[in-house]
Amino acid sequence: MPKQARLSGIKAFRCYTIEEAAEVSGVSPRTIRNWAAGGLRVMDGTRPSLIRGDDLRDFIKSARDSRKVKTRIDTFYCFRCRKERRAAEGLADCEVKANRATLTALCEVCETVVSKPVAVARIPEIARTLDVKITRL
Ligand SMILES: [Zn+2]
Repeated sequence: MPKQARLSGIKAFRCYTIEEAAEVSGVSPRTIRNWAAGGLRVMDGTRPSLIRGDDLRDFIKSARDSRKVKTRIDTFYCFRCRKERRAAEGLADCEVKANRATLTALCEVCETVVSKPVAVARIPEIARTLDVKITRL
């Protein structure tokens, strides 16, 4: 989260569409979709997708906390568990674009998608403990 998201305008008991959630928290709709892929809870079976205000607030707060939690090179911060977690079954996907890479896996405890940016130079080190499937974009 490069840009600081705003918490102040988010009402806990309201539901927001992706666009409304983006507007109220001061980030792009794309960022909200990335958060949804990374553990932000989206209500089941609603079209368009709806996000509860309290889930959005919790996610942004956890994201702030996660920056204070130092994870090891082969572990992830899980937004749902709010803890450092290993990858389920030691499996991770790694998307490489130019000299930037994103490591994605499932939390070993709750199976939420967890991801983090990593330096391309560190991939061989990561591959010693994780079964990494590398995709070049
Ligand atoms: Zn988890």
